[in-house]
Amino acid sequence: MAQFTIGVDLGGTNLRIAAVDESGRILQTINTATEVARGRDAVVKEMCEAIRSLALKHHAAGTMQGIGIGVPGIIDMKSGMIRQSPNLPDWQNYPVKQEIERLLSTDVFLENDANSAALGEKWLGAGKDENDICAFTLGTGVGGGLVLNGKVWHGMTGMAGELGHITVDPNGHPCGCGSKGCLEQYASATAVKRMAKEHIARGGAEGLEKLSRDEANFSAKSIYELAMKGDPGAKAVYQRAGGALGIVIAGMINALNLPMYVVGGGVSNSWDAFAPAMMEQIKLRSFVYVATLGEDPTAPIVQRTVVRRAQLGGDAGLLGAARLPAVS
Ligand SMILES: [Zn+2]
Repeated sequence: MAQFTIGVDLGGTNLRIAAVDESGRILQTINTATEVARGRDAVVKEMCEAIRSLALKHHAAGTMQGIGIGVPGIIDMKSGMIRQSPNLPDWQNYPVKQEIERLLSTDVFLENDANSAALGEKWLGAGKDENDICAFTLGTGVGGGLVLNGKVWHGMTGMAGELGHITVDPNGHPCGCGSKGCLEQYASATAVKRMAKEHIARGGAEGLEKLSRDEANFSAKSIYELAMKGDPGAKAVYQRAGGALGIVIAGMINALNLPMYVVGGGVSNSWDAFAPAMMEQIKLRSFVYVATLGEDPTAPIVQRTVVRRAQLGGDAGLLGAARLPAVS
């Protein structure tokens, strides 16, 4: 009999729930807004109702193998509690796993959203032919995930993979984590916008200045479009983002010697604007990358270090969550 799982991608603004078959095909998706203002109990209740209705609806098509949930923030894997989540402020120290399991009377697998996205890319996306990948999610913030031997690497308490908080500039912009100059302060959508504003303040960035007059349309995406038109200010912003990302990827390559590093999330759509600066830093700083024929496209892929764009777009986290029951 066919099997399927339920994946949940719980974001600060959107809640997506899907029934996914064992080959990764999405059978059905339910999309709703996460009404954070209604409180966590209401959100969890609505999520559980949607999970129940999907499980029931596809019951005839196969056996439901389990439920995986990707949530933003730091999760304590042992207790199933959210320790910290900027997008879900009142969920701190809330035993979310226990509460969902009580409502559904079944086990669920809880995972950090960036780890889920990494797992999704490993299962069905850029990393599907590799056992080990390191994935970056460049969104509002910068998340990361390590998938080793097909499984998410959690570290001691579940906090492994916080690649967005690796230092790129020791005296750089203050970060919400308490440090300074973290990757997140240069390679997230928030950072791209901030760096563009800093550029405007320094003067001489006429293109960016003009773009910023329409605040509603001033975004990482519109700055990217301006960069692709050749605007020097917008190009410099993305070069800074790519350079910062390259420094961190080079460090990860040197530390881990994995075959593949994947860059996803909304900002990865600006690949053409930041990838050249990123690759420059990787080649400059990672002798492991150079030694593993990363620059030689004719080398057998098994020997090469590959840095690649993610392939699943906004579905990576959802599909990765659906994969959790099979690999946890
Ligand atoms: Zn930080």
